[in-house]
Amino acid sequence: MPSSDLQEWNFHWRLVAGIVSCRKCLAHQSEELRNALLVHTDTCPYRLSKRTPWDELGRALHNIGVSDH
Ligand SMILES: [Zn+2]
Repeated sequence: MPSSDLQEWNFHWRLVAGIVSCRKCLAHQSEELRNALLVHTDTCPYRLSKRTPWDELGRALHNIGVSDH
C-alpha cells in the first residue's frame, strides 16, 4: 500500500497548526525546530526511536509522491 509510511507516521504523531505532537506523551515540536531532536517524556515508548518527526514526515510524503519542497 503506497500510503503505509504516512499511515505509520500518523499512528505515532499528530500534526495540528504546524506543530507535531507525540500521540503517546504529547511532546511537541514546531517545524522551525525540525533539526533538533524531539524530547519525549521519560516513560514514552517512542523516546529513543521517534525523535525526528519532521524528517519522517518528509520521507513518508516523498515515498507517496507528495512533497512540500
Ligand atoms: Zn512521546
